[in-house]
Amino acid sequence: MRNDLEQVKILAESWNAEQVLSWAFATYGDDVAIATGMGVEGMVLVDIASRINPDMKVFTGDTEFLFPETYDLIDRVEERYGIKIERIFSQLTPEEQEREFGPRLWARDPDKCCSLRKVEPLRRKLSTLDAWITAIRRSQTPQRAGAKKVDWDPKFNLVKINPLADWSSKMVWNYALKHDVPYNTLHDQNYPSIGCMHCTRAVQPGDDPRSGRWSGFGKTECGLHTPASVQAPLVQLAAVGADD
Ligand code: SF4
Repeated sequence: MRNDLEQVKILAESWNAEQVLSWAFATYGDDVAIATGMGVEGMVLVDIASRINPDMKVFTGDTEFLFPETYDLIDRVEERYGIKIERIFSQLTPEEQEREFGPRLWARDPDKCCSLRKVEPLRRKLSTLDAWITAIRRSQTPQRAGAKKVDWDPKFNLVKINPLADWSSKMVWNYALKHDVPYNTLHDQNYPSIGCMHCTRAVQPGDDPRSGRWSGFGKTECGLHTPASVQAPLVQLAAVGADD
């Protein structure tokens, strides 16, 4: 199995997104799902996948701190593609988290907050799958620069598939606009990367698109897509988020 994967890993680098997705659905059937943080990349991925496998499984981490615009997008995507997006929740409600860890944990220890609300729920979900499909792109962050289109994910112990790994932001937006793909209206208000309300702000034109996330914390990833080899122990426990 690992040898087969090593061969596919090399072959897949010459495949386009449709070919990667077709291989994923044919190989893993019901045991593969698309994970998305509801960013525009994830929406493009869902659109492409919908023409290959209309019964695709899609899930998103619902931290219960998302923007109203993001919840609205979930509704619109479900209607457009005739799917139900599975929402993955933390085991703690926001109120329980506040009782146990104090108020505004995200402002004091965002790694812990992401661990509780994103990474642990994702780990639980991924333990039920053989492979997961994400919309990460190599040019998004230095941590994502080495992402393969198909690879073993040692952090979560399953195959990780990144069909858009070699896409640029321009390619994503060209596709989204050409195919009238639903996207978060906050993208039109200088929010290039959208996560939780508490940890996302608009950026100035020309700024790093990820600079609006965890502003002031020197943190650009919730940990979900950070290679295990470069993670601090806490973040290893706390990583989640798809195209987040
Ligand atoms: S992004 Fe912010 S609010 Fe959301 S889980 Fe992470 S630290 Fe908490």
